Amino acid sequence: MNIKNLTIREVKRGLDKKEFSQEELRQEFLKSIKKKNPDLNAYLSVFKNEEPEVNKGVLAGVPCAIKDNILINGTGCTAASKILENYISTYDATVIKKLRGAGAVFLGKTNLDEFAMGSSTENSAFGPTKNPHDLTRVPGGSSGGSAAAVVAGLSIFALGSDTGGSIRLPASFCGVVGLKPTYGRVSRHGLMAMASSLDQIGPITKNSYDAALVLNIIAGSDKFDSTAVPKEAPDYTSGIDKSIKGLKIGIPKEYFSEGLDGKVNNVIQKAISKLQNLGAEIIDISLPHSEYALASYYIIMPCEVSSNLARYDGIKYGFSAKAKNLIDTYLKSREGGFGEEARRRIMLGTYALSAGYYNAYYKKAQQVRALIKKDFDEAFKKVDVIAGPTAPTVAFKLGEKVKDPLTMYLSDVYTVAINLAGVPALSVPCGFVNNLPVGLQLIGKHFDEAVILRTAHNYEHN
Ligand code: GLN
Repeated sequence: MNIKNLTIREVKRGLDKKEFSQEELRQEFLKSIKKKNPDLNAYLSVFKNEEPEVNKGVLAGVPCAIKDNILINGTGCTAASKILENYISTYDATVIKKLRGAGAVFLGKTNLDEFAMGSSTENSAFGPTKNPHDLTRVPGGSSGGSAAAVVAGLSIFALGSDTGGSIRLPASFCGVVGLKPTYGRVSRHGLMAMASSLDQIGPITKNSYDAALVLNIIAGSDKFDSTAVPKEAPDYTSGIDKSIKGLKIGIPKEYFSEGLDGKVNNVIQKAISKLQNLGAEIIDISLPHSEYALASYYIIMPCEVSSNLARYDGIKYGFSAKAKNLIDTYLKSREGGFGEEARRRIMLGTYALSAGYYNAYYKKAQQVRALIKKDFDEAFKKVDVIAGPTAPTVAFKLGEKVKDPLTMYLSDVYTVAINLAGVPALSVPCGFVNNLPVGLQLIGKHFDEAVILRTAHNYEHN
């Protein structure tokens, strides 16, 4: 038995039966991180001295990895940016407090695209993460370090954040499960804001049962985040193995257009047939405004980015350049601290929000966003789940797209609409193309994470 490849449930069983102790488990992971991380660069920092506390919680002793844009009190948090290279968190994010309460053990912080902006983890100021399936390829982004850590056996599970696909895309490229909860299901307190109306934290795990277990812990309202909805979270594991017989699954024709790789399409079609064989009713649907999702996202997101990243001014946090006066400090710190993609988005967002352009760009994009949300509302009157590909291709080569931002943005074509609409979605591994994983995306109604977890669980177990 290789304990590094265990699921959360198996770890708990092993600990209960005293096959290994919490500390043995942690040491085993630290050893493999030491061995494999120099090649993968999945972790930016590792907590070597954190002895697990004795705790009887649901995740007691379970090692996990945290994306380095989520605060853990007293430890570094870089967002993979030079501007925060020496920043130390002054409090725990709400999700961290909850995981700690459940007994989880933090192994370290994982690599990401700077401030979660990207689809390949190549925009990290500390070097890209490599895809464990093929070290010449990207792991997807922006939570690439978290997904790579889970699939390489460097963590039992991980947390990521998803603003336009950053949990689901790396899950798809690395062959793990990644869940973006409904906007408002999980507190964002202590998550470094990228685009506040789109950001959500979620689990990256080896299977959907584990995703349900982690969601059970992190879901719920929070007095520190007024957008975390005060709606009781159900037990996501209960009923997860109920059959999907009679479940209505919608297949949006817009998610199978010319941009989709033919071989990826074949794998997705097989996965849909399998769901049909399990008793689901497959229904053709349309999400007519899908073609405007990327354009709308790539206006709204940079607008929010430009305002959220204004706080990194060389005074309040992290890096401060030597300069002759205050304005110069702002300019030099931001110029020297932010990478190219962050600067690009700050400029785009500032432009789109400026007087005279606001109505033409930001307001228009918000109107389109409303139409996209309406597409989902209409579709969910007819179906319980929407299924399609998570990404148009499998993992691409390192360096292939990083110099061409527009091509990179196309990787997000099937994921961004979900954030704009605020609905939950997950990516579950459904096969391979040329030995590289393919992810099936399952989308649910607002606050119906249970149905997509159940669909994925049925898919995995049949
Ligand atoms: N790839 C998308 C972007 O670059 C999504 C990022 C994310 O979800 N954090 O904006």
